[in-house]
Amino acid sequence: MPRTQRQAARDGTITPEMERVAEREGCEPDRVREAVATGRAVIPANHAHTALDPMIIGEAFATKVNANIGNSETTSDIEAEREKLHTAVHYGADTVMDLGTGADLDTIREDHLDRSPVPLGTVPLYEAVKQAGDPAALTPELLLSVIEKQARQGVDYMTIHAGILAEHLPLTEGRKTGIVSRGGSIVAKWMEAHGEQNPLFSVYDDICELFATHDVTISLGDSLRPGCLADACDEAQYAELDTLGELTRRAWDHGVQVMIEGPGHVPMDRIAENVERQRRVCDGAPFYVLGPLVTDVAPGYDHITSAIGAAMAAQEGAAMLCYVTPKEHLGLPDREDVREGLAAYRIAAHAGDVANGRPGARDWDDALSEARYAFDWTEQFALALDPERAREYHDQTLPGDNYTDARFCSMCGVEFCSMRIDQDAREDGDLAALTADTDLDDSPASAVNRPPVGTHDGELGRTADDRSAPDTPAANE
Ligand code: SF4
Repeated sequence: MPRTQRQAARDGTITPEMERVAEREGCEPDRVREAVATGRAVIPANHAHTALDPMIIGEAFATKVNANIGNSETTSDIEAEREKLHTAVHYGADTVMDLGTGADLDTIREDHLDRSPVPLGTVPLYEAVKQAGDPAALTPELLLSVIEKQARQGVDYMTIHAGILAEHLPLTEGRKTGIVSRGGSIVAKWMEAHGEQNPLFSVYDDICELFATHDVTISLGDSLRPGCLADACDEAQYAELDTLGELTRRAWDHGVQVMIEGPGHVPMDRIAENVERQRRVCDGAPFYVLGPLVTDVAPGYDHITSAIGAAMAAQEGAAMLCYVTPKEHLGLPDREDVREGLAAYRIAAHAGDVANGRPGARDWDDALSEARYAFDWTEQFALALDPERAREYHDQTLPGDNYTDARFCSMCGVEFCSMRIDQDAREDGDLAALTADTDLDDSPASAVNRPPVGTHDGELGRTADDRSAPDTPAANE
């Protein structure tokens, strides 16, 4: 029987997947093997997912980003789902979770697995609920059969909400937003309806055996994650985390790879505490965080509120960041939302890698800065995190090939382009001689460059008194 990456690593074997990961991360294969053997990293790679290009998730490696896609009861179409997968991979997702709850789940999942070079994750509880018709009608047997089917299909990692226990439910009394995890609310409803322990906890060892057979990585769901700042770091959240620590060690005993899902909504001053506590309680298993959102007040901009928290979590050691799109709390994301969410989260992940001195991370920033200072616009666009967006914004005000050599952009214009002024002063050989008398109009740059378009014409002569907001036209005008 094929072994899991964890079992192979603990036997001292370097698998082809570890070789490939080492190549992608720029490190020695044995470093990868050791991280997997100790449980500090996972390589989600189901034996049946043949289209996969293996990657690694762990604190010692580049911070990864996950994008959630999937249909819903109201929006369901295989072509649209294929397009979402393509968009997510195109804009840089390291893994994709299909959280679909609509029609044709098997067809869409199998289609994704045939095509996806990145690991595919799922939450099998959702499909089980669809089959049961109601959360209270779930049975342990149904849960195991759905999990086994998805494992056979080739799913690389699955969120399993086994950590929420009946004993935890009273701890959520008094919360402002109760249980906000979809899976958590379903399991809580089941426990209340049956007066029994969480069925995923009851059959946990059977799940681990299935995962070991197919090498599915377990992603332990944080059912009691806070849904608002007021509920962050409360007794319920941390009681579940303790259970996740126990479940981590049990899965490891089965040879299963494990990562831990994390909050949620957390104020900035408590993010480090969350990451440090998870690392200690779960013995260094990779932390896979959703955001966290650092404020609750910005629906429509939660890719930003959460990317702030994600960057901080990455700096503290979170291994993978689950993106949040501008549609969070509001609706199902479309293609543009996926793009915006991924951009925000790739920035967060990279900022964390730079802050942590990850080898090679800063080289990207330095290369782009050099291209920027050299006014090499083509290279700047090529190096940009989202090249299409960078070029599009530049060309909105300075379109055409003429401007790809320009020593300015429309932000400051040719006269006030600080980098151009700085370079001219240095070319003159005496930076110290640059004074307020410098004749900008007579600089070499102004002679060769075209005048700016769309700059601050008409603004420069205004006084502070002129700068009041213009009158708003009456609604009926
Ligand atoms: S005009 Fe301003 S923003 Fe544009 S390249 Fe020069 S310094 Fe940078």
